[in-house]
Amino acid sequence: MASIFSKIISGEIPCYKVAETEDFLAFLDINPNAKGHTLCIPKKEGDKIFDLEDELYLGLMKFSKEVAIAIEKVVPCKRVGMTVIGLEVPHAHVHLIPLNTMEDARFLQKTQLSKDEFQEVAAAINTAM
Ligand code: 5GP
Repeated sequence: MASIFSKIISGEIPCYKVAETEDFLAFLDINPNAKGHTLCIPKKEGDKIFDLEDELYLGLMKFSKEVAIAIEKVVPCKRVGMTVIGLEVPHAHVHLIPLNTMEDARFLQKTQLSKDEFQEVAAAINTAM
């Protein structure tokens, strides 16, 4: 099903891109829990992550792992957490969130970033990959 993420994949809607392969895209969440909060998605449309075919699911996990390792290199945090929700956008995605406290994982407390901060952290993660 087409969602706002399809428009991000096509470039119709801009994003702060972190990484891209032929099959996957990583970009910063526009309403982040913490600085560096990144979404990893398959380019192929599909809603629920556990409905993805195995190869695509495993590819998404591998891609997410590579992005998470890069985030941990450049964003000060205790660890990078991975969360799957999907209640807002019906296009399978993984949240990668730099965690310092449990609050960072709870989607209740949000961080405001300037355009420059978004651009800077996206570029830093990309360079660390
Ligand atoms: P979920 O579907 O997992 O509940 O949440 C979807 C996530 O996508 C939210 O954290 C939200 O901030 C993010 N999001 C929604 N629309 C956009 C958008 O247009 N651009 C970006 N970068 N993130 C978005």
